[in-house]
Amino acid sequence: MGILDGKRILVAGVTMESSIGFATARVAQEQGAEVLISNFGRALGITRRIAKRLPTEPPVLELDVTDQSHLDSLAEQVREHVDGLDGVVHSIAYGNPATLLGGKFLSGPWEDVAQAVQVSAYSLKSLAVAARPLMGAGGSLVGLTFDATTAWPAYDWMGVAKAGLESTSRYLARDLGPDGIRCNLVSAGPLKTLAAKAIPGFEDLESAWKERAPLGWDETDHTPTARAVVALLSDFFPATTGEIVHVDGGFHAMGL
Ligand code: NAP
Repeated sequence: MGILDGKRILVAGVTMESSIGFATARVAQEQGAEVLISNFGRALGITRRIAKRLPTEPPVLELDVTDQSHLDSLAEQVREHVDGLDGVVHSIAYGNPATLLGGKFLSGPWEDVAQAVQVSAYSLKSLAVAARPLMGAGGSLVGLTFDATTAWPAYDWMGVAKAGLESTSRYLARDLGPDGIRCNLVSAGPLKTLAAKAIPGFEDLESAWKERAPLGWDETDHTPTARAVVALLSDFFPATTGEIVHVDGGFHAMGL
């Protein structure tokens, strides 16, 4: 018996085996879910190859969260495989590392900031609206953030985008709650993924975590984060929405 037995889950944002979305898809399958995954553009081929490494090979959908035609056809694409969804995972972010991250806060151009906010924050709303017709019986949306309540070294405009994501999640909780749809985020500590490697200076965050997280922190272990996402997708948080669950070894609760 798994905690997602009988649930149909879309995990959006799986590129590599190192993607948090991949670990989430794996744990969701282990817990009994029927999983679909998605990615976009040139990386779709990689996602199709990587999908074979999951316990059960899932269907791979094409979804660029900035492309309205993809969002409009999401329900149709999903219905080719399952007749609805019980949960959707938003594991998506992008900010141009050359112009927005690694000490570029004061010079980051608006066009790139706008793209980062659209892909990393606004898209949670876009995905929720696209998936809503598939969640007739209610459901659970879960996204991934990196604690946006403070300023970090290197994270720069992605921190602003994450603040937008956190607020977007609360407004979705407000507007979709009456339909029985919950919306929550998992705030993960630094994990070694493709997106993280692109952030110049990300290793400073990793070493701070090693020093200060009371439970310790392994930046190569995505399973604790994936398990929290899966718990929020399950029926074990039926009265929780607009919440941010920290999976960071306790780092956020420490002063020094
Ligand atoms: P990742 O493997 O690079 O995943 C990010 C995903 O977003 C990729 O699959 C990427 O696709 C996809 N994406 C980018 N633009 C998109 C678009 N327009 N439409 C659809 N998908 C798009 O990195 P990750 O670290 O697992 O990131 C997953 C989530 O966790 C992100 O929200 C990230 O901010 C968050 N998070 C990460 C950490 C960390 O330390 N790694 C910590 C806290 C939170 P392509 O690869 O094809 O560009």
